[in-house]
Amino acid sequence: PGAQMPFDPEKKTLVVLGSGWGATSLLKTLDTADYNVVVISPKNYFLFTPLLPSVAVGTLNPRSIIQPTRYVTRHKKRAVSVIEAEASDIDPINKTITFADNSEIKGQVSTTTIPYDYLVYAVGAEVQTFNIPGVKENACFMKELADAENMQRRFMDCVETAAFPGQAIEEIDRLLHMVVVGGGPTGVELSGELHDFLEDDLKSWYPELAGKIRITLVEALPSVLPSFSKQLISYTVSTFKESKIDILTKTMVKEVKEKSVILQMPDKSIQEMPCGMVVWAAGNKGRKLTQDLMAKLPTTQTNRRGLVVDDYLRMQGAQDSIFAIGDCTATSYAPTAQVASQQGAYLARVLGHLAKKDNLKNKLHQLESNIDEVKEEEKKAAVAEIESVRNQLAKIKLRPFHYSHQGSLAYIGSEKAIADLPFMNGNIASGGVATFLFWRSAYLSTLFSLRNRTLVGTDWVKVKLFGRDVSRE
Ligand code: FAD
Ligand code: NAD
Repeated sequence: PGAQMPFDPEKKTLVVLGSGWGATSLLKTLDTADYNVVVISPKNYFLFTPLLPSVAVGTLNPRSIIQPTRYVTRHKKRAVSVIEAEASDIDPINKTITFADNSEIKGQVSTTTIPYDYLVYAVGAEVQTFNIPGVKENACFMKELADAENMQRRFMDCVETAAFPGQAIEEIDRLLHMVVVGGGPTGVELSGELHDFLEDDLKSWYPELAGKIRITLVEALPSVLPSFSKQLISYTVSTFKESKIDILTKTMVKEVKEKSVILQMPDKSIQEMPCGMVVWAAGNKGRKLTQDLMAKLPTTQTNRRGLVVDDYLRMQGAQDSIFAIGDCTATSYAPTAQVASQQGAYLARVLGHLAKKDNLKNKLHQLESNIDEVKEEEKKAAVAEIESVRNQLAKIKLRPFHYSHQGSLAYIGSEKAIADLPFMNGNIASGGVATFLFWRSAYLSTLFSLRNRTLVGTDWVKVKLFGRDVSRE
């Protein structure tokens, strides 16, 4: 009903939840002629997360790193329904999904329930705060587009407030102290980007203040970037030292206050560190929707890290009708864009096989039930056809998901990047300006559309020519 795309009762309904890395990669590869495809996501776009820290400091325009989901679906063979809504309940027994329009403007109908035959669950994860006091209220996150825009506004507010006439020295020092919590790739990349902004732009626009800006990266573990090789960790540490980014390891943030963070130091003592802005990049946890779904299948879904799936990405206990990919799952793979996108592409192929299988099964069923009515002289041919369909069915074999690691890349500021690249049977670890150029070109080529590649490339050129914009929106 309503503005829904044509519904074919002969085809199964495939509902895709999410428009992130996993879902977008699935949609790109999926043959939509096989199903009635419905995509549901509260964001009507795909966000290219690796470049999010660049948006936070104004190197890139926010709109350059997002791509409307309809850009992917409108070129598909058969029309796809794209619905901007948030799934609020999944019934894995009766195979229904309830979703709501939670945006500002609502119509007469803003919540509904639809049935599905297959569900692709790709809702990602949310920020992990560990219920540490003050994080939600006082820290900025670095997960969604709005987080990066919010951080940019807050950062410039700190700088402008520090420039207010008559501000005391200690207050200027506090306002210009930026604390990044979490020494994973997000925290490291963001610290590097903040440093670039400071060096390339703020030094000329705020010469009296720029020297006072400090960046501190706080990490609870003994080292930053634990997933990278030792050599690249020391390269990052020495680059940060040159860049005057302080790294505090074995230090845990215990509370975030309005004007400071409370730290537990390596010797277990507690210290209060004044600051103007805190960026929380301390990892992710499952969404409430995921926890609720798991609670409905309590015998099989017991992993606290996320949904348990088999080698074919089927959610265990969900009657082969729910597939889960990306950050919402608990697998042996890291929660990365690389994994989610490979899973999405794999699942599209699996769904293609399943559709083929369903068609052949229907055909077989029809041939078998009609065999008694077939004339004697045509019987031989009919039996041969049944045999041929059976053979075709037997040939359709699903292969388990196999992840192929393409390497890890991270930008660490000062036009330097680090790369752990699997090569032959070992790892090549490289760092430096050449790696930075590789990082940029790798990102440009993996950005989904030519349109986005052009937008990002143009932004990079603009910044080179005119610098970053320091106005606060
Ligand atoms: P997401 O991409 O997060 O997508 C989830 C989707 O579900 C979103 O569209 C969301 O709107 C939607 N959704 C949420 N709730 C609902 C709901 N209730 N109903 C329906 N839809 C819903 N990985 C790398 O491999 N390389 C990198 O360089 C890299 N850099 C990163 C930089 C940053 C700053 C961040 C935050 C992450 C980075 N990652 C990187 C990790 C990568 O972004 C994630 O692993 C990836 O996004 C996971 O894909 P996903 O499809 O599982 O989830
Ligand atoms: P993460 O989980 O990798 O790192 C979070 C860090 O925060 C951890 O090292 C943890 O010890 C620390 N931490 C947690 N609580 C703390 C506290 N109270 N005080 C101090 N430190 C604390 O998170 P991330 O960096 O956002 O990365 C998430 C995923 O996205 C990872 O799989 C990562 O590989 C991927 N990612 C990849 C890239 C890249 O390849 N360039 C960039 C960003 C993210």
